[in-house]
Amino acid sequence: DEFEKVDIDSGDEVEELADVYNDMMSQTQDYINGQKRFVSDVSHELRTPLAVLEGHINLLRRWGKDDPQQLVESLDASYQEVKKMSSMIRDMLAISHLQHSEDYKFEKTDLVASVEELVEDFRMLNQTFRIEFESFFVGYKAYAQIYKNHYEQALTILLDNAVKYAGDNEKYIKVTLKSDEKNIITTVSDHGLGINAEDLPHVFERFFRADKARNREIGGTGLGLSIILTIAKIYDGSVSVTSEVGKGSEFSFSVPKAT
Ligand code: ADP
Repeated sequence: DEFEKVDIDSGDEVEELADVYNDMMSQTQDYINGQKRFVSDVSHELRTPLAVLEGHINLLRRWGKDDPQQLVESLDASYQEVKKMSSMIRDMLAISHLQHSEDYKFEKTDLVASVEELVEDFRMLNQTFRIEFESFFVGYKAYAQIYKNHYEQALTILLDNAVKYAGDNEKYIKVTLKSDEKNIITTVSDHGLGINAEDLPHVFERFFRADKARNREIGGTGLGLSIILTIAKIYDGSVSVTSEVGKGSEFSFSVPKAT
């Protein structure tokens, strides 16, 4: 159900108008396709935990009263699945809110202050980690064109991941703020598990989780990095990653300097 282009070759205002119409309609079509994809991805992702939950409820109905071990096991598993579903819904709502946040485009935020605050919070919460902040704006402010909540949401996800995927490696995380001509670039690097080359190009995709076996033990929805990508797009910013298995990862998030 693609829309039909108006094809006018008159070389006058009517052709111009037709071009404007075609552009508008094709943008609308892209938007609709995006929404459809989102709904279908979401339904697909929720189906698995729901099926597992249904299985356990059936086991409970059949054996739960007489078999205490089954009772404990199935209640435990059901609880895990419900928690998984609520994290997914939380993250999906975050994405959906972001897609309607045109109003925030003109906000300005001092990234130095935001990083300092968040790094301090993370130090408190993860005392086994050494978390450093290096700013090339030391003593100065670094204003970027981004809504404070959005920036902090993105940085929180990167810091969360650096902690979550640390493994048994050195628990050392470094946040760097620097700038090029147009952008302020935030980099979070860790010395954790790393990501293999095959998975690396996909980590920003919705619901993608690298290394399925490993991830079964580490909780997550596969939505964190796609939230960051969504935020970056709102502000015409960008994201990037380099990583090496067993050595660590480095994620960068860049947003335009405030003008
Ligand atoms: P989640 O962490 O919920 O799985 P994300 O979208 O935040 O989802 O990340 C996608 C995947 O990228 C993760 O499942 C993980 O495999 C990988 N990943 C993200 N950050 C890191 C990191 N700092 N170190 C190693 N792997 C990472």
